[in-house]
Amino acid sequence: MIQLKTQVGIIGAGPAGMFLAHWLRKFGIQSVILERKSRSNVEGRVRAGLLEQNTQDILKFLGLADRMVQQGHLHDGVKLSFDGRRIRVPFGELTGGRQIMIYGQREVIKDLTEAWLGQDERLLFEAPAHEIKDIDTDHPSIHFEHIGEKGIIECDFVAACDGFHGLGRKTLPRHAYREYTTSYPFSWLGILAHVTPSTDELIYAYHERGFALHSLRSETVSRLYLQVDNEDHIHNWPDDKIWEELAVRLGTEGWSLQSGPIFDKSITPMRSFMIDNMQYGRLFLAGDAAHIVPPTGGKGMNLAIADVKHLAEGLIDFYEKNSMTRLQKYTQTALKRVWRAQEFSNFMTQLFHKRDAHGSFQYQLQKAKFDYIGTSKQYAATIAENYVGLPFETFQQ
Ligand SMILES: Cc1cc2nc3c(=O)[nH]c(=O)nc-3n(C[C@H](O)[C@H](O)[C@H](O)COP(=O)(O)OP(=O)(O)OC[C@H]3O[C@@H](n4cnc5c(N)ncnc54)[C@H](O)[C@@H]3O)c2cc1C
Repeated sequence: MIQLKTQVGIIGAGPAGMFLAHWLRKFGIQSVILERKSRSNVEGRVRAGLLEQNTQDILKFLGLADRMVQQGHLHDGVKLSFDGRRIRVPFGELTGGRQIMIYGQREVIKDLTEAWLGQDERLLFEAPAHEIKDIDTDHPSIHFEHIGEKGIIECDFVAACDGFHGLGRKTLPRHAYREYTTSYPFSWLGILAHVTPSTDELIYAYHERGFALHSLRSETVSRLYLQVDNEDHIHNWPDDKIWEELAVRLGTEGWSLQSGPIFDKSITPMRSFMIDNMQYGRLFLAGDAAHIVPPTGGKGMNLAIADVKHLAEGLIDFYEKNSMTRLQKYTQTALKRVWRAQEFSNFMTQLFHKRDAHGSFQYQLQKAKFDYIGTSKQYAATIAENYVGLPFETFQQ
């Protein structure tokens, strides 16, 4: 039996769990992380790649930004396209200098994991948590298994940073929260390809054949997406067909798309989900454990890290000032940003995906919105400030 004792027991070594552990460590608070998957699995997962200004600032604050600064790409705008007409929303000019950074989630995870293990801190891979006990007392515990051996972590607090399918949300009493959910009648076919990006900034495109997105990972790797039906299958999409479809949907006069070898291909459904209570007793949820947004706004990982900021600050107040005030307000504080991000992600999804027939009433509304972005600086600024991430002060009152 493995018996561990710590201040904060963290379940999950994704962005939420790793950021929380580092943040607490900076303030002298101990934690132990349990991760059910192997290190190579966690570090190999292709997911988000867009860091808001806040996330970049937090990585710098934690002293973990060296590789991001060297290898990431700052973007000062985004390109939006509708029926082949392309406009640009400049970020810095509209938001007082805020920008996004393109740096893959798996690179962030590698940096945080390496730094954590390099300091001899405790992180058990292949250690699924099975049960969280006594959350309504001041000595909760996490029961887990590690390579065939049972284990227990006794702690002051449990942070469930364990993603959408995790144990944390299932442990909250059902009467303690309401659930909100929306699914969409389309999915994203995403590819990674060894090819120099054909753009220096992301391109979001509405096309009568469906949405497409040209994103980037590095000077030699491109990330692109296509709207497909929920019932579609990856076998229906040979590489040539993907490139042809991308070229059509992203196309605009005087621009062409470079293709290259595809080395990763997957279909991901789109979903909005959240619960309106992220805590109970000594159990706190952060990140995808409590909310999922469609990836159109690039918010998933950034939201997880924003939750962590509030949770870390609450825990620091507890240990430094013996005050529970901030922790008690954790959900209330975090939810303001979560709802904003839900709305923005939904807005971007509705604006660029094809739902109804080309030329329908719905299409005309989408087009009117797009045209307005091109003519109104205020409307463009609303998109820019949400896209780069609103400063934490915005949600303070
Ligand atoms: C397939 C996919 C593609 C995505 N693409 C994008 C994208 O293109 N753009 C974007 O902005 N966002 C994207 N996201 C969202 C983004 O990656 C997430 O919002 C982000 O990873 C949330 O971080 P998290 O730490 O809350 O959760 P996760 O990253 O899910 O981490 C949770 C961790 O907890 C572990 N865990 C779960 N249960 C247990 C247990 N019982 N015991 C121990 N460990 C456990 C899991 O193995 C996992 O490592 C994508 C998500 C997915 C799933």
